[in-house]
Amino acid sequence: MNSPTLSQGNSLASRDVKSLIHSYTNLSAHEKEGPLIIETGKGIYVYDDNGKEYIEGLAGLWCTSFGFGEQELIDAAIRQMHKLPYYHSFASKSTEPGILLAEKLLEIAPGNLSKVFFANSGSEANDTVVKLVWYYNNSRGLPKKKKIISRQKAYHGVTVAAASMTGLPPLHNDFDLPIQNILHTSCPHYYRFGKDGESEEDFATRMATELEELILREGPDTVAAFIAEPVMGAGGVIVPPKGYFQKIQAVLKKYDVLMVADEVICGFGRTGNMWGSETLGIQPDILSCAKALSSAYLPIAAVLVSEDIFRGMVKQSEKHGAFAHGYTYSGHPVPAAVALRTLELMEERNMVEHVQAIAPLFEKRFQALADHPLVGEVRVCGLVGAVELVADKATRQSFDPSLGLAANAVKAMQDAGLIARAVAGDNVALCPPLIITEDQINDMFDKFEQGLNAVLPL
Ligand code: PMP
Repeated sequence: MNSPTLSQGNSLASRDVKSLIHSYTNLSAHEKEGPLIIETGKGIYVYDDNGKEYIEGLAGLWCTSFGFGEQELIDAAIRQMHKLPYYHSFASKSTEPGILLAEKLLEIAPGNLSKVFFANSGSEANDTVVKLVWYYNNSRGLPKKKKIISRQKAYHGVTVAAASMTGLPPLHNDFDLPIQNILHTSCPHYYRFGKDGESEEDFATRMATELEELILREGPDTVAAFIAEPVMGAGGVIVPPKGYFQKIQAVLKKYDVLMVADEVICGFGRTGNMWGSETLGIQPDILSCAKALSSAYLPIAAVLVSEDIFRGMVKQSEKHGAFAHGYTYSGHPVPAAVALRTLELMEERNMVEHVQAIAPLFEKRFQALADHPLVGEVRVCGLVGAVELVADKATRQSFDPSLGLAANAVKAMQDAGLIARAVAGDNVALCPPLIITEDQINDMFDKFEQGLNAVLPL
């Protein structure tokens, strides 16, 4: 579609261009090209307003673990809507779905997490993490211990503190971020940042040493927490080298720095265990989660904290008369009921075992792409993975960013009937609904390859 049609017409696409601001979209290109309007969804497929079918290869935004149209989740929402369509959790108010969901989360949580706070999105959960860390260290009489260390290429969301912890320049540039007290250490991407002759293990050791050097430079009495996605998602699906988190956590322990696991993508089966923390060997003091918590059918997120942190919060709230944080929709009963049903379905349908059973084919099809002329590296963990496109496989040289190669490949995949996502430069990611079958995995990779072949330089 061209711009005169879009600016003059009365189609849904024209009305979109005239009325909507789109996230993570080139706003000027969008005015000319318009939207892809998705009308319906079923299983791993979505359909546009012309009836064209697409495999949703990214589960929306890494989130619709049960695919589209899962009747059990729809029914859970309707039942709760009839019973009690809204209530809140301020001033000691509570609802059954919120209580049951908190219990269920604690039952499946890794390590010794003991209390749950609800939010509505990953960003809100991570902003809450920052505030809880500060509140907790105030309760301990450590008012200087406030800095939070994240990593370059991390993604923790877009609200002011969460975007600050995100380590991707486009989320900072011209938004006047990061805020103070948020720092970034090195990204554990061996292919890009490993030195000549350095083994993966030595690289992991260096990552921990660089973290320690940062803590010492800043002063351990000023550093409160370290936050990490077990596998970095939007930064390019970066799987850290073996032993990385063990080495990092040894440094954190030494300097009394809390470990925060951002499980917003990795939680709920994605990496082949219930939590990415289990797959990557993390023992979190705080955990944030969202997305697949409700299979994304309704917005809900959670922050889980250790008993020690909760006791600090209790102490501090006594001082102030109340714990003065919370959202109108914290623990909203309808999303909570859908999330509870999602977690029950994960057990009833053995979803983690299903992921373990099909992940080898997903990995095999991904690894086969290593021979493709455009692919420099393949990275995969459970049912999430990406290829990094390079201009020269031997030197690992990237393409000129102005070519937008990954974005063009993703467009070609879309033409072929697959929705994939270009992330953080020339990486193309797949993170399909967990319910995907082996035949569908094969079909998805055939379309993925078709897209890559379409942008091969002549
Ligand atoms: N953390 C991680 C690891 C994420 O991937 C995301 C979203 N992609 C967020 C936080 C932010 O979540 P939301 O978009 O729900 O605010």
